[in-house]
Amino acid sequence: MPLAPADDAFASRLGQTLPADTLRPAEPRFLEEPRGRWTSTATWVALPRKVEEVAAIVTACAEEGIGIVPFGGGTGLVGGQLQPEGPAPLVISLERMSAIRAVYPQENVAVVEAGAILADVQRAAEEADRLFPLSLASEGSAQIGGLLGTNAGGVNTLRYGNARDLVLGLEAVLPDGSIWHGLKRLRKDNTGYDLRHLLIGAEGTLGIITAASLKLAPRPTTIGTALMTVPSPEAALALLAMARGQLGETVSAFELLHRTGFDFLAETLPDLRQPWATAPDWSVLIEIGQGAGADPSAALEEIFAEAFEAGLVSDGIIAQSVGQSRDLWTLREHIPEANRRIGAVSSHDISVPLGLIPDFITRAGAALATLGDWRINCFGHVGDGNLHYNVFPAPGRTREDHVNQRDAIKTCVHDLVHDLGGSISAEHGVGRLKVDDLERYGDPAKLAAMRAIKAALDPRSIMNPGAVLRA
Ligand SMILES: Cc1cc2nc3c(=O)[nH]c(=O)nc-3n(C[C@H](O)[C@H](O)[C@H](O)COP(=O)(O)OP(=O)(O)OC[C@H]3O[C@@H](n4cnc5c(N)ncnc54)[C@H](O)[C@@H]3O)c2cc1C
Repeated sequence: MPLAPADDAFASRLGQTLPADTLRPAEPRFLEEPRGRWTSTATWVALPRKVEEVAAIVTACAEEGIGIVPFGGGTGLVGGQLQPEGPAPLVISLERMSAIRAVYPQENVAVVEAGAILADVQRAAEEADRLFPLSLASEGSAQIGGLLGTNAGGVNTLRYGNARDLVLGLEAVLPDGSIWHGLKRLRKDNTGYDLRHLLIGAEGTLGIITAASLKLAPRPTTIGTALMTVPSPEAALALLAMARGQLGETVSAFELLHRTGFDFLAETLPDLRQPWATAPDWSVLIEIGQGAGADPSAALEEIFAEAFEAGLVSDGIIAQSVGQSRDLWTLREHIPEANRRIGAVSSHDISVPLGLIPDFITRAGAALATLGDWRINCFGHVGDGNLHYNVFPAPGRTREDHVNQRDAIKTCVHDLVHDLGGSISAEHGVGRLKVDDLERYGDPAKLAAMRAIKAALDPRSIMNPGAVLRA
């Protein structure tokens, strides 16, 4: 049966059962996304203050067959937080449910509500002398609900894992309106199917996460950051292996950067100071975090010296202060914004087995050259085998000049990724952008199981209709 719209009449009925001001006409910020690709058809947003209100809203939507789109910080890059067609859904924002309910330093656990902004969770952990290691450029806006909904990655995955690896328990409202009280602080709990891992990465299609019990880590007390010039992606991987061999788990970030990223920064954000007049073709940003008494800068210097001898690096900057470290990270974190200002024809968030990264870069470049003349900004979390491989028009041309080639570029990159045993969405999710790609490249048995799970938990398909799986 088709879904009904969340129209004024529905909002008026539902509003009578909820505290005043829980429902209101959706402002533009709930209807747009960072890359400006989709606009939502929603007209109403619900802003509940507690889980029971979320449950009441979902129950009403389930009874009337109304679609629901959970909206976190709105920073998602695959259109999961916006429904651009079909009957207007009800947007649910948990921004009023943003409490850090408790921090348990001895247990290395924090219990937070899903509307909490990542930077606030990081700060709460820091105040307890702990680390919440999830870290990404959108951390000032992205919320725990959205981060878990997308199983976000970010710069510290190498050491601490994805969002999924940082969750001990969840509280959530399921598509029939029932509340799952799974907010446990247990590291061991083998009692049947793990709903936690079904909801994490489901992008709001199986329920609404309302709170999470998160793993904290001991806080590294000394941090070292370096930007090293490498002759090639192969050398970058050899350097990573050398660094991990000597420094073990303390290597927390290892980001590959291409000259194009620095050129784009110079072109679009000239006030950002760059450490060189001409950026090298390839460089890596490395961060290590160690305990008290350690000297991470000295450790990085030793790695640099050894790597230099081996021909793996030719130049480098080792931050001598927190400010210098921040400056290096600021460059890395502004690359997505520089990309946005230049305007990609096609962007890809892919992963391949670590050892095949150089192969991917060579083969993708050669294959795309047969389609035209491009500027490619290939950068990202290379330590996790994850690259952001973004294709831009040649100087003097715009993305609009190449609209008709977008699909061919995407297919070219994704076919190669698939051939190499990789993933067409390493960390951003499927959303609405990659529904076709999931159907094309996804394993048939896995897709059938996903559809069966969706049908069992959400038979009327009210939860985020059209995201991840075709509506
Ligand atoms: C500059 C920039 C840098 C980025 N860097 C990275 C990066 O390094 N790594 C990375 O992984 N991502 C990155 N992203 C993408 C984005 O920040 C992440 O996908 C983030 O996890 C989204 O969180 P959000 O709160 O903004 O969620 P939204 O964008 O609001 O929503 C994302 C998805 O989660 C669902 N959702 C929202 N709230 C809930 C909830 N309470 N329960 C269930 N589902 C929910 C939505 O329906 C939607 O499908 C970046 C984005 C930007 C703009």
